[in-house]
Amino acid sequence: MEVIADLHVHSRFAMACSTRISLESMEAAALEKGLNLIGTGDFTHPEWLKEIKSSLEPIDETGLFRLKGSRSGVMFVLSAEVATIFGHKRVHNCALMPSIESVDALNDELATHGDLKSDGRPALTMGAAEFVEAAVRTSGDAFVFPAHAWTPWFGVFGSFSGFDSMKDAYEDQEGHIRALETGLSSDPVMNWRVSSLDKYALVSNSDMHSVEKIGREANVLSIDGKVTYRSVIGAICNDGNKAFKRTIEFYPEEGKYHYDGHRQCNYSVNPETSKATKCPVCGKRLVIGVLHRVNDLADRPPGFVKPGAVPYVHMVPLREVIAYATKKTTYSQVVASTYRSLVPVLGNEFDVLENVAIEAIEARSNSAIARAIRNVRDNMIHIAPGYDGVFGKLELLEQKPESAPAKPAGQRGMSDFVH
Ligand SMILES: [Zn+2]
Ligand SMILES: [Zn+2]
Repeated sequence: MEVIADLHVHSRFAMACSTRISLESMEAAALEKGLNLIGTGDFTHPEWLKEIKSSLEPIDETGLFRLKGSRSGVMFVLSAEVATIFGHKRVHNCALMPSIESVDALNDELATHGDLKSDGRPALTMGAAEFVEAAVRTSGDAFVFPAHAWTPWFGVFGSFSGFDSMKDAYEDQEGHIRALETGLSSDPVMNWRVSSLDKYALVSNSDMHSVEKIGREANVLSIDGKVTYRSVIGAICNDGNKAFKRTIEFYPEEGKYHYDGHRQCNYSVNPETSKATKCPVCGKRLVIGVLHRVNDLADRPPGFVKPGAVPYVHMVPLREVIAYATKKTTYSQVVASTYRSLVPVLGNEFDVLENVAIEAIEARSNSAIARAIRNVRDNMIHIAPGYDGVFGKLELLEQKPESAPAKPAGQRGMSDFVH
């Protein structure tokens, strides 16, 4: 069975998250998008965990859950993200757990390191290694991976508080780390440049703060037999079985921390062409982005393709494509109603972006929207890279670019990996 999974999401109890997030609205959004496995997010938060316990039911003995009585096929896995803080080192870590009992036991221990009620993504005074140790002691099936590994403040390799290696971050617990989340501002080809990361599965998740963003990055698995907590993690981590089919990625330039820059001064710079560390406008330190950090740690040239690596595909979320074509904002009425005219009428969002015939899309919307979707499929886009918390800006091109200057060599278009 094909499983399309988004394992890192947040509830309305996490800082800066939409109040409309509920397990029900997440299920509905997952169905629209084309996902059938999603994290619950925020299992550390007492109020949210109460909802998880009252609204979800276990699916047999699988370690996975569904909304009570739901036949939608959307499965949930118990998930959370915590910030571990030790001195000036701050790391965001995602954790998946196989049972409510193991979550309760882990939360009891984590509550001695910080206030779990204060934020769905709690800040815990403990090292990243100590957190891993607590999770795996609670359950041998605990699955912990660094979240958005390269982002400046909280990524394990981030420029401000990160480390230069997994060993430095996770110390004697490093062996329990089997995956890392590439985050929106990096994609697999960037990570392949760092040979010490070869042994980790590269996972991609939305880190959504509103349900519309669920699945903007995701993992496509092919699982023989029963879909269980263990078979999902086995599919992600065991590269011998080729069950990890591909990841769905943001264009990394669209992410908020791709380039170096300083938001207040509207200044951004490609770290490959500039070694500047200070803002030329105000003289303050630049926020060193993801591409810069990858370059720092890389021991392979840009564009290096790791043999046997899990393929990936870049996708632009459909609402953004419609917003561009209609010249409206992503959350405007026009975009919402156009989205509704395509999804689920013609299929889920992944179908519309990748597979549905352009003529059918045009018949349900208009030629500008059909052309925009075709452009994205053909990789006819340009993105002004994001920096210092500013998302990259998408532009759809009328012709195939002679060269795509902002993109790292070796980047692939959607069509390369369509089944
Ligand atoms: Zn985070
Ligand atoms: Zn500045």
